[in-house]
Amino acid sequence: ETPTISLRGVGRDFHRARTRLTERPPVVHAVRDVTVDIAPGERFGIVGESGSGKSTLLRMICGLDRPTTGEILVEGTPIHASPPRRLGWLRQRLQLVFQDPMSSLDPRMRVGDIVAEPLVGQRIGTPAERRARVAELLERVGLSADAAKRYPHQFSGGQRQRISVARALAPNPAVLVADEPVSALDVSVRAQVLNLLDEVVDGFDLTLVFVSHDLSVVRHVCDRVAVMRQGEFVEVAPTEQLYVDAQHPYTRQLLAAVPRLDAALAGRTATELAARTLAATEE
Ligand code: ADP
Repeated sequence: ETPTISLRGVGRDFHRARTRLTERPPVVHAVRDVTVDIAPGERFGIVGESGSGKSTLLRMICGLDRPTTGEILVEGTPIHASPPRRLGWLRQRLQLVFQDPMSSLDPRMRVGDIVAEPLVGQRIGTPAERRARVAELLERVGLSADAAKRYPHQFSGGQRQRISVARALAPNPAVLVADEPVSALDVSVRAQVLNLLDEVVDGFDLTLVFVSHDLSVVRHVCDRVAVMRQGEFVEVAPTEQLYVDAQHPYTRQLLAAVPRLDAALAGRTATELAARTLAATEE
């Protein structure tokens, strides 16, 4: 089976400005030699502290930035091959759910136009078909159809994240890429949005790439987790194995900072667990 996403020795260097003319510009290895295959339908988590290279890696997976070394394949197609003729296709197959729904939704656009934006951009459907699709998507994410006529500021943070999810689903993608999708939300709303992601990933048969600095959130969303430090994957393991039997000292260090889960919670739904874990984090 062709992996949905293949990273092969992917690296990305940045050059910092020279402090002295005689100096060579210092190089930052933001991502180094990352290799992994993400299978269709997998929920793959990437955790790491701020500055570990998560955003740089995501930008490359989404085709927004080029690797310095290595290659990235989406459904078997190298996405950075030149000329970049397949970017339109990539835009449809892979959709982003943003970190901060406040800043990522254009305040001047009606919600219906925001959700339809990827369809208009890809010239998918007639205006009537797009309106029908928008209504259907708003319902799927738990918003009423009349939300289409309103503006983002008329919605709460959690509702805006629902709008962002509806927009991501519009062009019928194969992959959702979620970058810290709940970090800007209140604890009480986080579990709802995580539950929604859970639901749409199942319901729409998606592959999920979920990035967060928060191990407790990733635990309840992902099947497999990569721990990133200083641009490298130091450990990649099935979620439960990682939490029970972490191999890398850095993973154990990160885990030590996460509140322990009561063993009695085993078997509860993801939402209940996430709500409890997050409540524990807040205490
Ligand atoms: P994270 O998303 O995990 O917080 P980033 O991918 O944003 O990490 O950053 C990884 C490293 O790369 C950091 O040291 C950061 O300063 C550096 N970096 C990221 N983007 C740039 C850029 N455009 N120019 C220079 N350095 C960058």
